[in-house]
Amino acid sequence: MTSNVNMEKIVSLCKRRGFVFPSSEIYGGLASCWDYGPMGVELKRNIKDAWWRTIVQQREDVVGLETSIMMHPKIWEASGHIASFTDPLVECKSCHLRWRATEVDRDRCPKCGGELTEPRMFNLMFKTLMGPVEDEAGTIYLRPETAQGMFVNFDNAVTISRRKLPLGIAQIGKSFRNEITPGNFIFRTREFEHMELEYFVKPDTAKYWFDYWVKERFNWYTNLGIRKENLRLRQHGKGELAHYAKDCYDVEYLFPMGWSELEGIANRGDYDLSQHAEYSGRDLSYYDDESGQHYIPYIIEPSAGVERSFLAFIIDAYREEMVEGEKRVVLRLCPSLAPIKVAVLPLSRNEKLTPLAREIHKQLRSNFMTWYDDSQSIGRRYRRQDEIGTPFCVTVDFESLEDHQVTIRDRDSLAQIRVPIGELEKTLRAKLNGEPFDVSSLWATRQK
Ligand code: ATP
Repeated sequence: MTSNVNMEKIVSLCKRRGFVFPSSEIYGGLASCWDYGPMGVELKRNIKDAWWRTIVQQREDVVGLETSIMMHPKIWEASGHIASFTDPLVECKSCHLRWRATEVDRDRCPKCGGELTEPRMFNLMFKTLMGPVEDEAGTIYLRPETAQGMFVNFDNAVTISRRKLPLGIAQIGKSFRNEITPGNFIFRTREFEHMELEYFVKPDTAKYWFDYWVKERFNWYTNLGIRKENLRLRQHGKGELAHYAKDCYDVEYLFPMGWSELEGIANRGDYDLSQHAEYSGRDLSYYDDESGQHYIPYIIEPSAGVERSFLAFIIDAYREEMVEGEKRVVLRLCPSLAPIKVAVLPLSRNEKLTPLAREIHKQLRSNFMTWYDDSQSIGRRYRRQDEIGTPFCVTVDFESLEDHQVTIRDRDSLAQIRVPIGELEKTLRAKLNGEPFDVSSLWATRQK
């Protein structure tokens, strides 16, 4: 974590620059619910795309799925969520705040010092009724994870993919948990998005694949720019393991409130398919034609949250720097995650410059997520783009009208290169793909 970043600065930047707004704000907000603004939706989408690219697109052994949020209530009996997806909760007898019993180690309320009640079990699933007539309606649940939808489709995925084990099913989607203590901005909310992979393996290979996925998932974050020193792996102790898990590692990030879980990778054994086989009456064993055996596959599950990754990526990218005696805030986001890839900025809102700048913008926006900005001074516009992490700004100036060249400014080094308009798109594409921003090459260099 950079030493000068704290959660207040991140919350303020997210609001100011259109990443995250409090939900229902004009009505006073709704606790722990957030809306994602124009920059926020792009960042979220880019995180999900990056995950999907790595987990599904670039692999032969994983297929995607999108299952329903509302599912048969028996699924939650089979999964153990109705019996055990509970947290022990204590309530303060004077201020009535509720706390997870595991969060308070004294018998006094951390807020007001009042006496606490005995712990009570609290189910984290949201209940609702399905059916138009309330008396006859059945109780159903909003899913607290996307995983169960994939377990119950195991057979479909094997049949349709025509692939042998190991086989993964991947899904990204909303989950809901009636958390007792949501908070720390978007770190823990009651509605969030999961990115989950269920990787079905032969039982005697489970240890190998578990280790494999722990490494893969750690590297996914560092490949997208998170600094290694802010990331660590933590193995769950025996007493901490979920009832179904044989082993579990958390990828933890050094958030401003301390090391906290970013993603969990669990070896779930054969628990899930065995349970669903028992409760549904369907045979969910797998026939391995190489060994001629039937077995219930083990499942390795890397389970990540979109919003928590979002928060970690922004915090890790956040920098305050001095440039020419002025402070600039910059998000050094990996270009593939940056909400806007290229900003087009005419030097001024001049009638001669505008048509050319507009024309360039039109060309670029069919290939990149772009932003056009001609209000206020060029310096302020650069700062605005720095704060949302835009890797490149293209400046159109009066010389551009004569020499048909424009300037590309690099967010991180602040170096500028001049390129012919005809080569702009190709150059930007190469730079966004990681080609170095080499100011001594091909083009004349103009340092700001
Ligand atoms: P925690 O211990 O923080 O409650 P968990 O161990 O219950 O998390 P999992 O069920 O393993 O979480 O879910 C996997 C991932 O989903 C977490 O690592 C996190 O990124 C995300 N996640 C879980 N609960 C929430 C939540 N309430 N708000 C935002 N993200 C969440």
